[in-house]
Amino acid sequence: MQNADSALNKLKGVKQMTSNVADYSAEHPKSKCACGHTGDGGNSQHDNALFELGHGACKVPGCKCKRFTWAGWLSAFVVDVALVS
Ligand SMILES: [Zn+2]
Ligand SMILES: [Zn+2]
Repeated sequence: MQNADSALNKLKGVKQMTSNVADYSAEHPKSKCACGHTGDGGNSQHDNALFELGHGACKVPGCKCKRFTWAGWLSAFVVDVALVS
């Protein structure tokens, strides 16, 4: 039974982490785009796409990026969410 319990706890941890990330990304960008601007979340430098915040075209004047392309996590996201959980 011990194995089943620890597997369940692990699953709970993942679920908690996922909801933290969802809360966070409603307000903050999570990632950096290939164009160098923030995206993948609310209040980012990219427009919102149909189902995903911050996955549309870049809003920075002069930037030709038409669609968010993931290039890495923002360190603020890693510090605020990923490491805290
Ligand atoms: Zn971009
Ligand atoms: Zn851009």
